Amino acid sequence: MKASVTDQNLLLNLQEIDTAIAHATTKMAALPEREQITAIHSRMKLVADELELAQAALTDVTIDLRRSEVDVEQVSARMEKDEKRLASGAGSPKELEQTQHELVTLAKRKAELEDGELEIMMKVEEAQNRVNTLINDEDGLKKLELELNVRLENAVTEFEREIALKNSERTLVAPKIEATLIELYEKIRAKEYGIGAGALVGGKCGGCNLAVNAIELERIKSLDLEEVVRCEECRRILVRI
Ligand SMILES: [Zn+2]
Repeated sequence: MKASVTDQNLLLNLQEIDTAIAHATTKMAALPEREQITAIHSRMKLVADELELAQAALTDVTIDLRRSEVDVEQVSARMEKDEKRLASGAGSPKELEQTQHELVTLAKRKAELEDGELEIMMKVEEAQNRVNTLINDEDGLKKLELELNVRLENAVTEFEREIALKNSERTLVAPKIEATLIELYEKIRAKEYGIGAGALVGGKCGGCNLAVNAIELERIKSLDLEEVVRCEECRRILVRI
């Protein structure tokens, strides 16, 4: 195949543009923020599950506390009633003695109930602290997620702008090159990891970076400059510059 020297040189320009587009596309897909956001999402899921459990536990101990308060209130009410009866002096001496006994028993019971209430209050406090901590964690993760999303969006916008710019450069360069040369280039590029053409520099192929052997180099030198040369190793188009 033959192609003008200008077209061959333009092909190297096109390769540079295509390589830049490929690099930007790869980098955009591999932005670290994507992985970080996924990690944040799994942490958020864990915290949400834990928070649900902690809130259920808080509800349970709060109910226990209310029950315990009612128990204490009931005993207190009964003691108040007994104390009033004693103060009034109404009833037989035997009845008054019974009331006094009852008061002693009730006071003991009340002290026990209050100890229990104190324990439950501590449990409520612990449960509340746990809920607060998890809500804080959740807020922190949401903030982090937001920051990462902004960073990701900015980085994607930057890459998209770069790719759009390169694509417009491409639309200027590609139509100038002869169609058959472009076709060959695209065919090779599709098979060879995005690289269809390389410059022959210092006896090396710019496509695969391997040295072209001396005999082949001599042969290439003897060829007409318009002859399209291919690398013996990678079969990519070799442009003499
Ligand atoms: Zn090569």
